[in-house]
Amino acid sequence: MSQATYKSRVEKALASIIKKIEKAAVRGGRNLRDVTIVAVTKSHPVTAIIEAIDCGVFDVGENRVAELKMKQKEVTDDRVRWHMIGHLQGRKVAGVLGATHLIHSVDSLKLAKKLSSKAVESGEKEQVLLQVNASRESTKGGFIFPEMEADLYGALGLPGLKIRGLMTMAPFTDDTKILRNTFRTVRELQQELNKSHRLTGEELSMGMSNDFEIAIEEGSTMVRLGTALFGRPIQ
Ligand SMILES: *Cc1c(COP(=O)(O)O)cnc(C)c1O
Repeated sequence: MSQATYKSRVEKALASIIKKIEKAAVRGGRNLRDVTIVAVTKSHPVTAIIEAIDCGVFDVGENRVAELKMKQKEVTDDRVRWHMIGHLQGRKVAGVLGATHLIHSVDSLKLAKKLSSKAVESGEKEQVLLQVNASRESTKGGFIFPEMEADLYGALGLPGLKIRGLMTMAPFTDDTKILRNTFRTVRELQQELNKSHRLTGEELSMGMSNDFEIAIEEGSTMVRLGTALFGRPIQ
């Protein structure tokens, strides 16, 4: 897509998305202010990020470390808050440490430990979300509850991490019942953890282009939107 195409598209799409978020928030007894839009720009050119910024969206999500770093070099606007939302391989940890506002995709105790120890070495705390595999699909990463309870609790106790909340990816389906159930399960897990003082974070990163309204009704504080904002990337 050309620069002009991105421009007209993002502006229009955002206006419609904000209306939908507002309505979903009302239905969920919540406030528009409590929901952050993370513009997922993976596989889109830097132009997409510039247009998001122009429209007042400063939270930008990428799913690959190399692409994130490349775009960070090109987009130097310091209002941008970078989010890492994709699976992180252990050997990529050093490259992403301290480079983002938030890592959404801490999906195993092993990865959590690696991030924590590197963060401790550098004297910083890394801001992260723990990814929960609520739908228990074998193709998905993340902590499965309660089977991986011990791993989850282990991650919560690590000194180099500041756990800000939980993230999940719903199954790929149009069945709203399944989607709602997935989001509700994660919100209830968060409430349970907070009640037992195991988790202090209040963030819930849930909802993508095809399910963000349900996610917001169920308590999402961060929706990760790619296609709804930018269309499908041209490869
Ligand atoms: C690509 C991606 C998204 C955005 O997906 P859309 O359906 O295009 O909105 C959200 N979260 C993660 C983890 C992704 O990889």
